[in-house]
Amino acid sequence: MVSGRSTGGKIPLGLKRKGLRIVVTGGAGFVGSHLVDRLISRGDSVIVVDNFFTGRKENVMHHFKNPRFEMIRHDVVEPLLLEVDQIYHLACPASPTNVVGTLNMLGLAKRVGARFLLTSTSEVYGDPLQHPQVETYWGNVNPIGVRSCYDEGKRTAETLAMDYHRGAGVEVRIARIFNTYGPRMCIDDGRVVSNFVAQALRKEPMTVYGDGKQTRSFQYVSDLVEGLMRLMEGEHVGPFNLGNPGEFTMLELAQVVQETIDPNAKIEFRPNTEDDPHKRKPDITKAKDLLGWEPKISLRKGLPLMVSDFQQRIFGDHKEGSS
Ligand code: NAD
Ligand code: UDP
Ligand code: UDP
Repeated sequence: MVSGRSTGGKIPLGLKRKGLRIVVTGGAGFVGSHLVDRLISRGDSVIVVDNFFTGRKENVMHHFKNPRFEMIRHDVVEPLLLEVDQIYHLACPASPTNVVGTLNMLGLAKRVGARFLLTSTSEVYGDPLQHPQVETYWGNVNPIGVRSCYDEGKRTAETLAMDYHRGAGVEVRIARIFNTYGPRMCIDDGRVVSNFVAQALRKEPMTVYGDGKQTRSFQYVSDLVEGLMRLMEGEHVGPFNLGNPGEFTMLELAQVVQETIDPNAKIEFRPNTEDDPHKRKPDITKAKDLLGWEPKISLRKGLPLMVSDFQQRIFGDHKEGSS
């Protein structure tokens, strides 16, 4: 610990204590904005650091008048000086600059003695040869593939975090997040849940890549946020898989979207992208045992909550970002 100041991180969730000062990088994004809502309602002071690359002011606008909320337009690739207790590092351009941003936020954590949580990803497992994936599995990533910039960037971010932990004593937490969906998700970022939901709402065919038999496990955003907060407050470095073990093929997902939005929604097959992982499902035994965490919201329960948000944003009644 560099300073004698309390990191506050050791106080269990739900107990009364003085509010913490918390930075959320990427806090104007999909996951970040939901995390900010929880932290603010818990009584903490939150500084969002975001360059609005994929995030939107609308996602956090409802906090603008709150004196415990602050927002800085800043690219984490540039150094940043702040005094805080905890850093949730979510900002992540899918480019090599991801690594520089993580390095800066670790430097910040080291200087002020803050606890640092990295939002890593299930993509560190690549196209996995073990199923379901356990945290001890080292993964199967093609280092020169089309997806490798993101995957290897996060793998390097994990390496940096562990080096700062071992070498500089930074209190680090690592979450490996599996596919997450919910209100405020980017509508046009090409991810499968947002694509299918937007397509079905717009009466366009749902685009299934390849034969649609590849699988993913979809987690509702509030489950993820609960997991991230438990991880930050707990005593374990991780890495921890945070995901919903319910596994679906893309054709099954399309069927759930049909059931939820429009039974007549059509499916259109498209060629798949290179290096697309064939299957993915988290083993969450470690998070269950050590964090007392498991997801509560199934795909069939969570999807309608996302659909009403997308409906409002696509057909426009200017309520973007509300959930
Ligand atoms: P998002 O794109 O909605 O949020 C990322 C935020 O970071 C955005 O607000 C963006 O503007 C901001 N940002 C990007 N580059 C920045 C930079 N250089 N400086 C400052 N801000 C910057 O994405 P999300 O889905 O909310 O993801 C949040 C984190 O969780 C990311 O690190 C992502 O890799 C990780 N993750 C998400 C998922 C998922 O399914 N959503 C799965 C695995 C991992
Ligand atoms: N850094 C930062 N804010 C801080 C402290 C450091 O952005 O409060 C950046 C710093 O500019 C550097 C990186 O974090 O690029 C790593 O910092 P560290 O002190 O670990 O490394 P050093 O500067 O000694 O190479
Ligand atoms: N996918 C699809 N149709 C789409 C978008 C994606 O069938 O319109 C497939 C994609 O090929 C992959 C899966 O859905 O097999 C999940 O893709 P996404 O980009 O959402 O997540 P990731 O591949 O990063 O897990």
